[in-house]
Amino acid sequence: MTDNATALAGARVGTMAAPRVQGWCPGALRPMMSGDGLVLRLRPRLARFTRDQILGICAAARRHGAGLVDLTSRANLQVRGVPEAAWPQLLDAFGELGLLDADARLEGRRNLLVAPDWVAGDDTERLAVELAGRLDELPDLPAKVGFVIDAGDAPRLLGDPGDFRIERGEQGGLILRAAGRVQGVEVTADAAVDALIALAHWFAASGGAAAGRMVRHRAPLPAWACGALLPAAAAARLAPGAHPLGWVCSLPFGQADAAALADAVVASGAKAVRITPWRQLLLEAARSGVSHKLDSACTDSDALAAAGWQVEACAGAPYCVQAGVDTRALALRLAAAAAQGGLSLPAALADAPRLIHVSGCAKGCAHAGPAAICLTGRGTAFDLAFDARPGEPVHAAGLSPAAVLERLGVH
Ligand code: SF4
Repeated sequence: MTDNATALAGARVGTMAAPRVQGWCPGALRPMMSGDGLVLRLRPRLARFTRDQILGICAAARRHGAGLVDLTSRANLQVRGVPEAAWPQLLDAFGELGLLDADARLEGRRNLLVAPDWVAGDDTERLAVELAGRLDELPDLPAKVGFVIDAGDAPRLLGDPGDFRIERGEQGGLILRAAGRVQGVEVTADAAVDALIALAHWFAASGGAAAGRMVRHRAPLPAWACGALLPAAAAARLAPGAHPLGWVCSLPFGQADAAALADAVVASGAKAVRITPWRQLLLEAARSGVSHKLDSACTDSDALAAAGWQVEACAGAPYCVQAGVDTRALALRLAAAAAQGGLSLPAALADAPRLIHVSGCAKGCAHAGPAAICLTGRGTAFDLAFDARPGEPVHAAGLSPAAVLERLGVH
């Protein structure tokens, strides 16, 4: 073990004894136990892993984990299926790749979502670098509180999570906006990070910890943080395929086979991989000719969208200890049918948003709201409900995957 990992191992003794604790955002230094072992979440700097880093992560995921990497809604990368005994080797590998923070406290504070299409020298890059270098100036905050730097010509992250946000405003300048507030206050590029840190201190001092998140914190903002500027009109999501910075790949359900991802990086000549919160990777400086689907078994997400369907699925078995069902296999089968128009909905739901949610259990990690078709694992079978969330009253219970397909008219 390297000196770095030895020091980190000392700091993690308490965690090692109880890796099952929930309620925080797991990192590499504070992993979380899941169905097939530890989940280690890596937080990229500037939404970016270098080529060496991403290849190292993929190699480590194959050697010590389940051979998969997950993208999270906060634009982090997860390696899962890691036996506790392999954790020190993974920390060594990640430490040598420059992926670890000095300690778990700093790692926990680096909840920083960055617009992934920044370019060198722009406001997003400069502000993200500044904030990342000043994390020790932040107060203690609830574990899930996060920051957003979205200072390109038009904001891209308006629909993505973050409590304290620096965004492009409607008049072209920068604004600081608290989550849950429609409008923000104008800030200069030089003063933006100072103001964000000051707002975080106000949150802590005004009882924000009890609310947990800015969006639930009802205290009136300090006068200096009250503004009347809206964010600028949102930029469109990145389209899969060629991009001025490289090549955008979509990962259905946000998961990639680590070997396939490494192959795509090498074959494309990518210099880095940028991580988005939208189940997409941007392969920086990639040559054309890269498949935008890293998993060839997955239904073409463009075809699915063209057919008007969205499919969500959690990790399910064997990756999550709560699940006895293979959620993604069923979700892929349903996605293929939906893309081809081969799925039947009850007449009462003809106008409902066409969303399929396959959940390994009633917790419903993959989607918070109701879905037109909701399948929830219970034991080794599925419960089928319409226009429902996992755990709500079901239409039919205890179905095998084949029985689900039959009920939905998939042949
Ligand atoms: S919904 Fe249940 S089975 Fe799926 S990832 Fe969450 S806890 Fe695991």
